[in-house]
Amino acid sequence: RQLSKYFPIKKGMWGRTVAQVKAVDRVDLQVKQGQTVGLVGESGCGKSTLGRCILRAYEPTSGEIRYRRDDGEVVDLAPLTERQLKPYRQSIRMIFQDPFSSLNPRMTLADIIGEPLRVNGVIPESEIEDRVATLLRRVGLRPEYLRRYPNAFSGGERQRVGLARALSLNPRLVVADEAVSALDVSVRAQILNLMKDLQADEDLTYLFISHDLGMVEYMADEVVVMYVGHVVETGPTADLYRRPNHPYTEALLSAVPNPDPSAARARKRIVLQGEVADPTNVPSGCPFRTRCAYAQEKCRTDVPPLREISPGRRVACHFSEELGLRGIEDLVA
Ligand code: SF4
Ligand code: MG
Repeated sequence: RQLSKYFPIKKGMWGRTVAQVKAVDRVDLQVKQGQTVGLVGESGCGKSTLGRCILRAYEPTSGEIRYRRDDGEVVDLAPLTERQLKPYRQSIRMIFQDPFSSLNPRMTLADIIGEPLRVNGVIPESEIEDRVATLLRRVGLRPEYLRRYPNAFSGGERQRVGLARALSLNPRLVVADEAVSALDVSVRAQILNLMKDLQADEDLTYLFISHDLGMVEYMADEVVVMYVGHVVETGPTADLYRRPNHPYTEALLSAVPNPDPSAARARKRIVLQGEVADPTNVPSGCPFRTRCAYAQEKCRTDVPPLREISPGRRVACHFSEELGLRGIEDLVA
């Protein structure tokens, strides 16, 4: 709720703060248990920073991270100290983008996957190997692999190892930041399907961060669209893809490749003018106005609030209702 992360830019010998990068600016979003929320936007829009704040890898500048425990109590993780956070660190885990650099090449799979168990002292040392073997099986790898090193494995297999490591502590929420983007297209679907299977088996909840709207359509129940640190639109996936309410969402959807290759169904691509706005100098009024083909005078002066436009659908645009934006099926040439 209203979560912000600002990074100060310092200059000179006294380290005076001369500007702020508003990487995440008063973001509201909700992730329901057992569901997947897709967090989308171009690179630099604040998706990863938001994910890292939720993991408390970054300390938020302001706002709340409300976490509902198994006993029903809601705890704000934002102000907790490292010591107070310890029990929650097991419940919220991350899978990283790059399965090549995120695994220590000098550690065996048994050490890599067993490390969170060891660090958190959740089971006796004598049981760790058995547990790792079980985890390997769960992610579709052979338990005999536990004495091998990451170099022996392909990108897809390494991402399976990353998943096993993330799941070792039985987390409730997994933050997946571009988790399959570095993999070959042919391997991606396998890992996405594995993530779905694991979700169904263990009632896992995912925050699925990606710039790829095709993958998000496949994975997510709900979508949150970010632009320079702001949430500009949210809604149930199928509904949002069919009927976007924000011009930025429309443009992102227009860039999704059409699976039907016939020329008649080629997607009509909307090319945005200019560059992503500078997060140290976000435009007045609507942050998207410098790139919006529909911008009017009001967009320069008034910040559009994130408002509920229909049940379950929120948008931050003054003129949504009047724009007649096209959805994924209508964006054909
Ligand atoms: Fe475009 Fe104005 Fe809507 Fe912003 S508020 S998205 S500038 S029409
Ligand atoms: Mg990122």
